[in-house]
Amino acid sequence: MCGYNIGSNASISSKDISRQFTRAIAELDKIDLLKVYTSGSFLDECEIPVEQADQILQHCADNNTRLLFESRPEYVTPETIDRVLMTHDQIELALGLESANDRVLRYSINKGFTVKDYDDAVRVLTDKQVDIRTYVLLKPPFLTEAEAVADAKATVAHAAKNSKTISLNPVNVQKGTLVERLWKNWAYRSPWLWSVLDVLKASKDCGKIIICDPTGGGRERGAHNCGKCDDIILDSIRNFSQTQVESRLGSPDCGCREVWKSVMDLEGFVMGGTCDLQRFFRRPR
Ligand SMILES: [Zn+2]
Repeated sequence: MCGYNIGSNASISSKDISRQFTRAIAELDKIDLLKVYTSGSFLDECEIPVEQADQILQHCADNNTRLLFESRPEYVTPETIDRVLMTHDQIELALGLESANDRVLRYSINKGFTVKDYDDAVRVLTDKQVDIRTYVLLKPPFLTEAEAVADAKATVAHAAKNSKTISLNPVNVQKGTLVERLWKNWAYRSPWLWSVLDVLKASKDCGKIIICDPTGGGRERGAHNCGKCDDIILDSIRNFSQTQVESRLGSPDCGCREVWKSVMDLEGFVMGGTCDLQRFFRRPR
């Protein structure tokens, strides 16, 4: 489902990274928290050379700015974390667990690591008292809507044991991916916003910060409902992410909720056909 590899450019040099950072940071006023999203692993020296990582860390240390970055678990070792903490200790590290089910990790996501690898990284970070943010994926391919919701709820519960923040990320259909091919063949529908709401409501009592900002929300390629109730639900999800107040999570009366419920109940019994009937019947003839 991830198309970032298509957008990446192998000719970017380490000097380019330095220049990108310097230019971007010059546009910012004084800030408390800086997110440096590499859409990869900040701790992987092949992606971010040590010199550039140090430049970013040193900048944050000098300006008393908390730094959030992400990494795959295999780069999280006592040595790499000590190296970071030597320069800057106000950090939060984001790990893309996606699913706490090894079968989903392997067959739906092709993630290349197991839940144990995530747990090992969590242990290192907890030892070093580094705050953890965990990404949870909602509806990777080859799961029914109901399976996807159950998997995301179980993953949030697993992540909540040690994370400070949990970010729920509904899959969106990105260009050039297998998910796009399935989607074009009517074999994939990005998650319903009702499903997003369902997972958020089930997760709110885990005692951790839950955030969600669906990429492409309300559009056919992103998490969406019928088109009439999408905006109000998306607004409520953003509002909840900022405030953590459950009552902000909207549930407007909309007929499409019954359709979603039928999908949740019946999709597992259906073979063939399309999992996205609404889009199928809307298609140009
Ligand atoms: Zn609706």
